[in-house]
Amino acid sequence: MALIVQKFGGTSVGDAARIRNVAERVVATRRAGNQVVVVVSAMGGETDALVDLARQLGGERPDPREYDALVSTGEQKTIALLSMAVQALGVPARSFTAAQMGMRTDGAHTRARIESFDADRIRKVLDEGAVAVLAGFQGTDDEGNVTTLGRGGSDTSAVAAAAALGADVCEIYTDVDGVFTGDPRWVPTARKLGRVAYDEMLEMASLGAKVLQTRSVKFAKRYGVRLHVRSAFHEGEGTWVVPEEEAMEELVVSGVTYNTKEAKVRVVGVKDYPGAAAALFTPLSDAGIVVDMIIQNVSEDGSTDLTFTLPREFYERGVELATATAESIGARSVEGDDDIAKVSVVGLGMKDHAGVATRMFRALADQSINIQLISTSEIKVSVIIEEKYAERAVRALHHEFLDSGSAGPAEES
Ligand code: ADP
Ligand code: ASP
Ligand code: MG
Repeated sequence: MALIVQKFGGTSVGDAARIRNVAERVVATRRAGNQVVVVVSAMGGETDALVDLARQLGGERPDPREYDALVSTGEQKTIALLSMAVQALGVPARSFTAAQMGMRTDGAHTRARIESFDADRIRKVLDEGAVAVLAGFQGTDDEGNVTTLGRGGSDTSAVAAAAALGADVCEIYTDVDGVFTGDPRWVPTARKLGRVAYDEMLEMASLGAKVLQTRSVKFAKRYGVRLHVRSAFHEGEGTWVVPEEEAMEELVVSGVTYNTKEAKVRVVGVKDYPGAAAALFTPLSDAGIVVDMIIQNVSEDGSTDLTFTLPREFYERGVELATATAESIGARSVEGDDDIAKVSVVGLGMKDHAGVATRMFRALADQSINIQLISTSEIKVSVIIEEKYAERAVRALHHEFLDSGSAGPAEES
């Protein structure tokens, strides 16, 4: 008998008929002799609607405690509805909110980190033959406050439950057939990957492939949870996220990703002395702003330009804080731009292949797309470009690296 965690995302539980479909799938897995834990998201669009309401009444930065109390309610509805639907098919089921399942987090509202999970409570329900239906995305802190794990956080809830329960597999059911070489919404020729290594998936997720929340992949890697990303709407293998040695990677580039939710800030004419960068970035980190790329030019005549990118939601605050520090570090001005996109190519194969960056730059040049910033790591190359070219860039890069490529054993044929 296997223990299977199944996570269903927003689209998959979007209306009553879809919840019934999910129930049927869950019941089939249970009747096949497995123990089943289901983790669900809010119905599609519901979390967005709640976030919008919070902004209408609480302003741009609503009180974080109340924000979490509100946006976590979407999942509370779906656990009850799915439990009813499973019961209606003749299988016992019980729903659990974060407090009920002991999903303990720290108190960092809106981006809380999981600290522990009461697996015994869930195991008891499973041993009684019932299906446990857990609310994704939400947690509870030491003081009993409701917290949330950040957008897309149900993936992380599912992996955490799978790790704590020692599940055989964590299945992530979604509205696409698996992890693709590019977002199928933008790249019609994108192909499903058969297997992808944790590190590669981690880069893809953090660079914009929202099919998995980045933290869920980190968690899965740390605890060795095998992830299977697959379609909620039909049978068939999806993508396995596995340790590197099992990924059998043959492709140089496995994915092209984009992120249109960043902004760029340029601090012009910063005096070149030890401590200037620390002075500039300390107020930003104190404000909880996580800066992404940082590029500093070679200094000329004792001064230099420093450019960084940050999440767009912190753009105004970032400009404000940089401007407040500018004078003290001798900077002439602060210029901002939130009309940018980050486009990246990712692949474990890059470790052994030179020339990926050059091919990338050439492909963008052929589209007359100007590159504003570049950053590289062992398995990725990212560029910042003007936002309006993002889709064209993604397609061009997919074409360059993946459209005509030979399908290695890592891919579906
Ligand atoms: P869920 O509600 O099931 O969690 P999400 O909307 O969070 O689903 O994630 C699925 C979406 O991720 C897909 O609809 C797809 O548009 C997007 N996506 C972006 N990049 C990729 C990729 N490389 N492979 C698959 N899906 C991707
Ligand atoms: N409902 C939450 C969101 O929309 C969590 C999730 O779907 O994973 O972000
Ligand atoms: Mg998601």
